[in-house]
Amino acid sequence: MNGSYVILDRDGVIYQDSDAFIKSPAEWLPEPGSLEAIAMLHQQGWRVVVITNQSGIARGLYDLATLAAIHAKMLEMVAAAGGIIDAIYFCPHGPDSACTCRKPEPGLFLRFAAEKAVDLTQVFAVGDSLRDLQAAQAVGAKPLLVKTGKGLATLEKNPQLNLPIFENLYAAASYIVKNS
Ligand SMILES: [Mg+2]
Ligand SMILES: [Zn+2]
Repeated sequence: MNGSYVILDRDGVIYQDSDAFIKSPAEWLPEPGSLEAIAMLHQQGWRVVVITNQSGIARGLYDLATLAAIHAKMLEMVAAAGGIIDAIYFCPHGPDSACTCRKPEPGLFLRFAAEKAVDLTQVFAVGDSLRDLQAAQAVGAKPLLVKTGKGLATLEKNPQLNLPIFENLYAAASYIVKNS
């Protein structure tokens, strides 16, 4: 068991993304294989945390209690598949807030590292948007891109991206487990 951490973005990586935002537990649909990917990481000794932008809070689309219910359902389904998510960090602010926690700002990565006493240079970070990768790069973590969610569009807009790219979270998790 290696005890190292993997950071996952939520929407487009674990959940199927929705342009209409995920506003209730009922709208929770996992990406195919994502629950199994988290289970595999857990069973191979990795710790999984989620870092997610949730501007739907600032936009008034859902409140903190609803977000908590969505996350409770996610933890339940991950557990049913045999996995564990250690912690969920979210930014509730909007794009114009100038906060330091909305990705590509690395504030939540830094908070996670401080709370868990983690060396971020040893941490893989899986995302589907450029801002996920930028936040990871800003703190020296190891970004991986998945093609699910906004991943294909991210790749089309940024063909110069020089990092490992995977079909989905399960493929990324398989790479992490093999290359460590
Ligand atoms: Mg995403
Ligand atoms: Zn924020």
